[in-house]
Amino acid sequence: MSRRILIVEDETDLAQILAEYLQRDGFVATTIADGLVAMSELRRAPPDLLLLDLMLPGMDGISILRELRKTSELPVIMVTARSEEIDRLLGLELGADDYICKPYSPREVVARVKTVLRRTQAAAGATATVAGSVLEIDAEALQACVGGRKLELTPKEFRLLQVLAARPGRVFSRAQLLDALYADNLEVSERAIDSHLKNLRRKLAPAFPDEEPIRSIYGIGFAFEA
Ligand code: CA
Repeated sequence: MSRRILIVEDETDLAQILAEYLQRDGFVATTIADGLVAMSELRRAPPDLLLLDLMLPGMDGISILRELRKTSELPVIMVTARSEEIDRLLGLELGADDYICKPYSPREVVARVKTVLRRTQAAAGATATVAGSVLEIDAEALQACVGGRKLELTPKEFRLLQVLAARPGRVFSRAQLLDALYADNLEVSERAIDSHLKNLRRKLAPAFPDEEPIRSIYGIGFAFEA
């Protein structure tokens, strides 16, 4: 079945070219030029992937992403102009899967779309290849193995690894990780995440002697290496 890509972009010529490139590669591409229209379309019929421009009439890309992430994990690639560095970082903090800077080549966008789809689908299968090692996550047994060797993790460390590894490359803020780890996080400080992360990294280290599989992004959060 063809996968559906929604392009939210108010430069309609650009959107059209992108749609043609994607269609040529077998995707079904739809274009919307207005943020509010896009938001209601996302609720009505979520696509397989969203290409989201930052500056839009009606509702801007950051607000759309923020609203979307309250209920949906659908893959999102943000499209930004180079001068919008702050917004790019904000986009990552809010849970974008990747970003592309304007001006871009349509060919590059198609390649990125494929990469993000491959990544998110691999994660759904709960097996990922990280730095040449195969990471297997068994959600029912609450067990994780790297290269066939079982990791001795606490339930919180396991959950942390599960959340990060499910979306390689995506940056999670401390607050987002806290939400994922604690049902009621009113009593828990964001520093608790640091201590679970420290322990998780220590336990991952023997399996990844030359790599740090969990990357820190200063002032924003953490990401599992894609
Ligand atoms: Ca725009």
